[in-house]
Amino acid sequence: KDPEVKKPAWLRQRAAQGEKYARLRESISGLKLNTVCVEAQCPNIGECWNGGGGAGGEGDGIATATIMVLGDTCTRGCRFCAVKTSNKPPPPDPLEPLNTALAVASWGVDYVVLTSVDRDDLPDGGSSHFAQTVKALKELKPGILVECLTSDFRGDLEAVSSLADSGLDVFAHNIETVRSLQRIVRDPRAGYDQSLAVLKHAKSCKEGMITKSSIMLGLGETDEEVKQAMIDLRAIGVDILTLGQYLQPTERHLTVREYVTPEKFQSWKEYGESLGFRYVASGPLVRSSYRAGELFVQNLVR
Ligand code: SF4
Ligand code: SF4
Repeated sequence: KDPEVKKPAWLRQRAAQGEKYARLRESISGLKLNTVCVEAQCPNIGECWNGGGGAGGEGDGIATATIMVLGDTCTRGCRFCAVKTSNKPPPPDPLEPLNTALAVASWGVDYVVLTSVDRDDLPDGGSSHFAQTVKALKELKPGILVECLTSDFRGDLEAVSSLADSGLDVFAHNIETVRSLQRIVRDPRAGYDQSLAVLKHAKSCKEGMITKSSIMLGLGETDEEVKQAMIDLRAIGVDILTLGQYLQPTERHLTVREYVTPEKFQSWKEYGESLGFRYVASGPLVRSSYRAGELFVQNLVR
């Protein structure tokens, strides 16, 4: 067993407050929405749901939430992830795309991240189901910004195209970690080159397509490897990068090798910006969808 590293003070979470947060919290009851924000007890919920301004403050940005589609059971088993797994999850609910779109449209967020488990059991990996959700949502609420945080569809580029062409605003897929740690951290069906190929293809699907990826730190990677991963993502035109601390979800998951300091995260942000990413969100508690709407509007629209 790896020796345990003590959790530093900067990872202590603040309770979520704020007016917008309270309103969204209130209006979600009754809607059948599986938000990752609530289910995963995400520490950023105050900041994301308030549209920035800190956990307790009212932001001037736009509120972001993350919704799961395609069920709660994954066909893969990555060693950093606490999602339930099975080889044969129940089939997707054919009414989910419309019902999710109706619920999100009525809920009051301006930027939504749609994400899913991996569905290797479905012929298209769930791409058409995902795409239907985006289309329904854009029809019901044309002004909403939609980011899809997708699986790698086993490298099936047709599945990538069908989702990339659905009308989404941001195509996100996470490489998760540096090249050398892929086999230790991710399910063996995932891989560094396959993920880069997915992001590269998504970028080519539409003029002006915005792509995004994320790397977890603290798994034993070296600085040189992090730099190389960032260079590799920029080389295929990835626009947005997020970097956050890996936290061990249960005792059965990979142990944390290092708690990266806030200062080090800041220096990764500066390095990423020097490479030309449109924006880099980097900090101990940053997650892939951290303040996504607010940062998107600040850096890519204004
Ligand atoms: Fe929700 Fe993502 Fe923000 Fe967490 S980081 S609160 S999951 S939108
Ligand atoms: Fe978790 Fe995604 Fe890996 Fe499934 S593919 S185990 S949801 S990280």
